[in-house]
Amino acid sequence: GNQNLLAMQEKRESNARSYPRRLPLAIKRAEGVYITDMDGKQYIDCLAGAGTLALGHNHAVVREAIEGFMQSYVPLHTLDLTTPVKEAFIDEVFASLPASFAEKVKIHFCGPTGGDAVEAALKLVKTATGNRVIFSFQGGYHGSTHGALSITGTTSPKKNIHALVPDAHFLPYPYEYRCPFGIGKEGHRISSTYIEHLLDDPESGIVTPAGVIVEVVQGEGGSIPAPVGWLKELRRITRERNIPLIIDEVQTGIGRTGKMFAFEHAGIEPDVLILSKAIGGSLPLSVVLYDKRLDKWEPGAHIGTFRGNQMAMAAGQATLRFIKENELPAHAHALGIYVKEQLQQIQKQVPSIGEVRGLGLMLGIEIINPVKQPNTIGSYPAYPELARKIQQECFNRGVILEVGGRFGTVIRLLPPLIISKEQVDEVLQRFYEAITSAEA
Ligand code: PMP
Repeated sequence: GNQNLLAMQEKRESNARSYPRRLPLAIKRAEGVYITDMDGKQYIDCLAGAGTLALGHNHAVVREAIEGFMQSYVPLHTLDLTTPVKEAFIDEVFASLPASFAEKVKIHFCGPTGGDAVEAALKLVKTATGNRVIFSFQGGYHGSTHGALSITGTTSPKKNIHALVPDAHFLPYPYEYRCPFGIGKEGHRISSTYIEHLLDDPESGIVTPAGVIVEVVQGEGGSIPAPVGWLKELRRITRERNIPLIIDEVQTGIGRTGKMFAFEHAGIEPDVLILSKAIGGSLPLSVVLYDKRLDKWEPGAHIGTFRGNQMAMAAGQATLRFIKENELPAHAHALGIYVKEQLQQIQKQVPSIGEVRGLGLMLGIEIINPVKQPNTIGSYPAYPELARKIQQECFNRGVILEVGGRFGTVIRLLPPLIISKEQVDEVLQRFYEAITSAEA
């Protein structure tokens, strides 16, 4: 049963744990949005491999793609040499991009993880521009490897690592609930004006960066969508100064936010687009798509043994096709609006929700301590202990969700894109019971 496996895990594994290990879960099987533990208890999975499982667990389309791939005798491993599977995958990716963006980009296979793709993107823009500084954002998350960690805003994963890659500069992200640069309808203009000022005033001490990297919706930072106006300004500022704009869509990409790619909400296009998680159809894969004009690096500039996971490409292609054929971005959009409305109703009935936000099926619930005083911008203090308690209460009721965000106080919902309205209603009902019970 559960206890057996959990005890084995406890005894054997290293201290460096992650994800829902706070919750005692040993998994026997999973299908669709459901996970079944060793004792037969069923959970609705609203974490979905941190957004990776766009089609949920073991979807027939993914299973068929993997089984068909094995039967085809296309090699599992080819370094980055080509096969029909790889070319078909690339065709599918390009057909999913906005046409004007597809026309101007090349694809780079960088390895199995999002972190690999971030490393590649940083090296690409440094090579192309000859510059060294990278601008990124407070609260941003880009990975655990040295380079990606160096440009990650969150300080806790960096606190014991002393020699990070230098020349990262962190700008305020328009986190409307907690950041003074995001407050009010027009507040984000302060942030973009500040960025422009930093770049143009020599007394800021900032030199022109090699690139700016941003998430359209901060994921690990707490499901925080950037205002469209701010994104447009960031695009204008970077374009006018010839600074490559890197959009990290490791978590937001492939339909998650209600559009195929989150940058489409703002009507902008990046110079470099980073994709991983769902792009491999649940298997490890990452790619970087970048403006051909940046293609100044030499052959072998970014290598790695596992850059060509052919089975992941087969699963990824099938996933992409299914997402398009079944209009899952529109489904995520509609369901996202519905869930937000329902959560806002719950917000009216409980004191500890400060904000409900998100785009598509990438939602965040800001948990606050309502008995304390709000600060000068009207937001109440974070309450990570209560957020954890709500997570535990949800778990007890068979719902798996994540707690994250810069202050550890955001309940995050990232269900598979195939989740139905009935399943979402079930999650909402159990969440309501969990939050009232945790508050009591
Ligand atoms: N960028 C973003 C936006 C992410 O959310 C993540 C992972 N949560 C990464 C990069 C890193 O991806 P990986 O964990 O696969 O290295």
